[in-house]
Formats: sequence, structure tokens, C-alpha cells
Amino acid sequence: MISLSKYIRVQCNCGNDVIVFGDSKTNVNCPKCGALIVESTGGHAKILCRRLEVLG
Ligand SMILES: [Zn+2]
Repeated sequence: MISLSKYIRVQCNCGNDVIVFGDSKTNVNCPKCGALIVESTGGHAKILCRRLEVLG
């Protein structure tokens, strides 16, 4: 497991790129299609779509 305490660029299933924080404490939905892309687990967020790159 990599550390997720940084910004991550992910791609939703609809093709939209979204920058999310790996430690997000809230759920994050795609602004374009509304799909849940990051699920808050109380600790590290769970990335539910394709991870493109870690931005550091
Ligand atoms: Zn989407």
C-alpha cells in the first residue's frame, strides 16, 4: 500500500479526471457524472476508480 496522504489524480469511469485528497474524510463524487469515486473509511480514503498519478 502506498501512502495516500497526498493529492491523487484519478479518472472516473465516465472519463473525467478529478484531483482528490487521499486522506479525504468525506465521500467524493465525480462533478461530471455524480458517481462515487472516493469513499471515506474513517482513515485513508478508498479510491473506487482508476488512479492515474500521485501528485505528492
Ligand atoms: Zn464521472
